Amino acid sequence: MPPPRTRGTALRHRLAELRGPDVPAKALDARALAALAANPGCRRRAILDGAGVNKAALASALGSPSAFGQSQFAFMRGNAFEARVKADGGADLLRLAHEKLDPHSEPPAHARVPELSAIGPEGRAARTALALREAVEAGGWTLLDHPMLALDVAGSPAFLEPDAVVVHPDGGWTVVEIKSFPMLDGSADPAKVGAAARQAAVYVLALEEVAARMEPAPAVRHQVLLVCPKDFSNLPTASVVDVRKQRAVTRRQLARLTRVQDIADALPEGTCFSPQLPAEQLTVAVESVPATYAPECLSACELAFHCRERSRARGAVTSLGRSVRAELGGLTTVEDVLAAARGAAGDPDDPAVAALRRAAHLRAEALGRQQPKTPGGQHPDAPAQRAEPPEAARCH
Ligand code: SF4
Repeated sequence: MPPPRTRGTALRHRLAELRGPDVPAKALDARALAALAANPGCRRRAILDGAGVNKAALASALGSPSAFGQSQFAFMRGNAFEARVKADGGADLLRLAHEKLDPHSEPPAHARVPELSAIGPEGRAARTALALREAVEAGGWTLLDHPMLALDVAGSPAFLEPDAVVVHPDGGWTVVEIKSFPMLDGSADPAKVGAAARQAAVYVLALEEVAARMEPAPAVRHQVLLVCPKDFSNLPTASVVDVRKQRAVTRRQLARLTRVQDIADALPEGTCFSPQLPAEQLTVAVESVPATYAPECLSACELAFHCRERSRARGAVTSLGRSVRAELGGLTTVEDVLAAARGAAGDPDDPAVAALRRAAHLRAEALGRQQPKTPGGQHPDAPAQRAEPPEAARCH
């Protein structure tokens, strides 16, 4: 087996080939890493993200452009709200952190806001690590505005920029996410909060890597501060979100990403995802990697329209949602499900098959009631007709 460095170089070379000649790698950001955790079983997404393929450009080249991303208006509104929250040295933000996370500590009246500018992402990440160390040593409150964190992803650093990190008087670190969706009566849209929590969990993992290099390692809190506009005003309010679950899922998923090598090895020779290739050739390349489409992809992945079309064409039950997929056990296509329901296939002892046959039977009975004219010309409720259930259940 080649030494790790050689293997790492070979993998980078292979991933560059998959991306295409002269196509720059698209850096992974926290949103992309968080989306990986939203669909952990998708090998297609794993290899495309691992190779730094621009999925939005790929989706357009495939003829299924994504409708995924933030509108310009939402982007500007988000920036304006963030500037409002961080005005006056982050007074509002620190007040909320004190109130929601650390009410028994000293008030953050004299918090430090260190300058974090440096050249390049590596330089900014090093400057952030130094500022965190200095903040812990100095004690009191410190606000890091747009720090830069590096997270090792499949052997390469991904540079991530949280909205803010707060250092508490006890030396603990908290990730702050500032979002422009409203918090009404203290609660916000659960789907948006879930997406923010997954994103914050990525920052928590990256902060843990920084903390691990310090002695003693400061505590990275697993409760993050989500700051949003209060009701429909421009006033900030906040809630504390526990991201332990999202952190665990993302961590597991990132560990699996290191198996990008295995996925790459299984691809046919010459596979390339360059958006400059003709659509037919790209379709073959993309379809050579297994995908697990689920409706959640629509809000998390640029390839969603392409994968949904293919999934439907194959009759895959995943396109009906994860809960339906879980209920159906080993039946993976709509065709299999219908055959099992008709009694033409499937093990009758399989609970999913038994439930389908029962459902098909009930459906046929119900349809029989709505159609009084049965082949025998009698009403299906007549005793003689009810003794024998319909031979085959019809499912459409
Ligand atoms: S849209 Fe396609 S590539 Fe993206 S996560 Fe879903 S199945 Fe995977």
